[in-house]
Amino acid sequence: MIQSQSIAVETTLQKKAKPPQDGLGFGIHFTDHMFILDYSVEQEWHNPRIVPYQPIVLDPAAKVFHYGQTIFEGLKAYKTADGRIRLFRPRDNFARMNRSNDRMSVPELDIDTAITALERLIEVDADWVPTEPGTSLYIRPYVFATQATLGVAPSENYQFIIIMSPVGAYYPEGMNPVKIYVESDYVRAMVGGVGEAKTAGNYAAALKSQQIAKEQGYTQVLWLDGAEHKYIEEVGSMNVFFKIGGKVITPALNGSILAGITRNSVLQLLKHWGISVEERRLSIDEIYEAAEQGLLEEAFGTGTAAVISPIGEVNWGGQKLVIGEGRTGELTNKLYDTLTGIQYGTVEDPFGWTR
Ligand code: PMP
Repeated sequence: MIQSQSIAVETTLQKKAKPPQDGLGFGIHFTDHMFILDYSVEQEWHNPRIVPYQPIVLDPAAKVFHYGQTIFEGLKAYKTADGRIRLFRPRDNFARMNRSNDRMSVPELDIDTAITALERLIEVDADWVPTEPGTSLYIRPYVFATQATLGVAPSENYQFIIIMSPVGAYYPEGMNPVKIYVESDYVRAMVGGVGEAKTAGNYAAALKSQQIAKEQGYTQVLWLDGAEHKYIEEVGSMNVFFKIGGKVITPALNGSILAGITRNSVLQLLKHWGISVEERRLSIDEIYEAAEQGLLEEAFGTGTAAVISPIGEVNWGGQKLVIGEGRTGELTNKLYDTLTGIQYGTVEDPFGWTR
């Protein structure tokens, strides 16, 4: 494990001007510094350092460009009313990073080292955590293969980098249900593939469907399973939940679905509230049948960026389904308020999720 004191810190001589907090957007502005850690077979993870935010120089043959051996994470830090900075479940993000690493043949990185690095970086850039309601500091850790050889084999060299971006309120005008396009042709992932790894190729492969959905006026794509195009997997970069006849159902983690931290938090909260939850296979047919029987009550996506995103309409091959009259459901609202309350420190955290 790397200790905080062993991280070399080179502070910038030219601090950037902070962008106005009412127009931060998502992942547009970056803080003054970044964390870098190198990997080589001989030295393993070494040379931890914080340096001014700057371009990275890579050999054109670096394996990441050719074979996509790279993984990333996404989490947030929040400023509380009393000026403290809170991280939400960072251990879980770095544990997932190691599961992605393992799938992509990237060497494991000690979780405590990653957390130490992140906390030191946040200390250096503490004045970048925005304070306006709903704003936060989005954190993007990632690892990529830097070895400059074209053989298709795991790289012998990597870099682990953390960059951070102040991001705006996701719902400046309140939560608005989104319209979802069910993708019946393209697939995001297959069981046995890399769907449960947070790796770049999954996102590149999803862009085309996303474009098609956007052109038709839909915000996100609902992905069906790769084998039968029948079972619900995820919505865009979110996990997905349906409330049917008083029960909350979400697709089980089957190997092709990303194990969302927000998904897990929602499951724990629902159980804590005594609401019955099921993690199982859920077909798109079942959703339409439940709607026909008047049992489909609410639907929402879960993810770090939006936390909870209500779904108001689904379109599956031209069959449109309006959920909850297109309005945000009661449970959806309660989950949003509770989770964001825990993140900003206005609601008690009975799970020990924040640090
Ligand atoms: N699925 C995919 C494909 C994602 O990229 C994300 C975002 N990380 C999620 C689900 C939600 O995960 P989390 O709640 O950890 O942000």
